[in-house]
Amino acid sequence: MPIELSGPDITQAEIDAVASVLRSGRMSLGPMVPKFEEAVGHYVGVKHAIAVCSGTCGLHLLIRALGVGAGDEVISTPFSFIASSNCILFENATPVFVDIDPDTWNIDAAKIESAITSRTKALIPVDAFGQVPDMETILRVAAKHKLRVIEDSCEALGSKYKGKPAGSLADAGVFGFYPNKQITTGEGGMIVTNDDSIAELCRSMRNQGRDTGMSWLSHERLGYNYRLSDVACAIGYVQMTRIKEILAKRDRVARLYQERLSNEKRVTFQKFSPDCDMSWFVFVIKLSDNYTETDRGNIIAALRERGIGCSNYFAPIHLQAFYRRQFGFKPGDFPVCERVAARTIALPFHNAITEADVDHVVKTLQELL
Ligand SMILES: *Cc1c(COP(=O)(O)O)cnc(C)c1O
Repeated sequence: MPIELSGPDITQAEIDAVASVLRSGRMSLGPMVPKFEEAVGHYVGVKHAIAVCSGTCGLHLLIRALGVGAGDEVISTPFSFIASSNCILFENATPVFVDIDPDTWNIDAAKIESAITSRTKALIPVDAFGQVPDMETILRVAAKHKLRVIEDSCEALGSKYKGKPAGSLADAGVFGFYPNKQITTGEGGMIVTNDDSIAELCRSMRNQGRDTGMSWLSHERLGYNYRLSDVACAIGYVQMTRIKEILAKRDRVARLYQERLSNEKRVTFQKFSPDCDMSWFVFVIKLSDNYTETDRGNIIAALRERGIGCSNYFAPIHLQAFYRRQFGFKPGDFPVCERVAARTIALPFHNAITEADVDHVVKTLQELL
């Protein structure tokens, strides 16, 4: 039996909720949307939650809501999923990367200030694999230079930083609900913010630029169809009622891996800051520095051959072909990110993983090492 890299945790309750939406005839703009939004907003402790059709759409709307456009620079991390930086490109602004901390693998907050120019407009810190970066420093630097901050918390629903929920720490945050995330709606995302005007703009732009109360063919501004269907929101609502159980299951799997690998000197983990309570997105190991990127590729291929799902999370964003072409990035530009990214492996991680699965994955990995 193969062990998948990821997989959703879907019960009869989600299936029943979908069936009930289908029977209701209200498949979009129905009652499940505000229900899901209220559930996430309440959980994160924010005033506004706006459901959108993906985490990427949520990031895009926030970039627009903050008025970021051509000629502006936005500071972010190169060690992330591509969407956290693509949203900057959607509006023709320029991504400015700051290298990561070699231990936490998050943006190195101490290096942000030297990347700020007169064109810098915003910061997009990312909660890499669920861990919130040094937000205290990030928010202090942002306030000093009057910059806006969008938290890409797409991997961190349920994480906390100094007791405060990920996503609620800055001007606005975004969660993602692709099936490998903590909770899923198939595809989906949620913008969270305490800022009334950001919320209003995002609500309008997700719905073709209609303002609240406007008729179907009235459009106040340029908008998109970034709505999330009632079918998706029904799944998300049920997932939110189960979130404690879901996160506990993920925590259990992470602890099993940590235990089994605690004496394995050839492998290290992301260093977890005591400021952050982790909600686990994926479980990522890093091979020690004497392994090359080619070794890592061989290990991933061999694990897959043996039915063990795994992946090279993350590939540096600045080295993607179109970033190199458009911005002239090259290997060596962000050496810490590149050194880490060349050696990481995401191991199978989802709620159905058993202790025997973990033992099998670890044993196979050790043979290959
Ligand atoms: C998953 C993810 C997103 C959003 O992804 P979608 O597939 O668009 O929902 C954004 N940023 C990061 C860091 C992610 O992991």
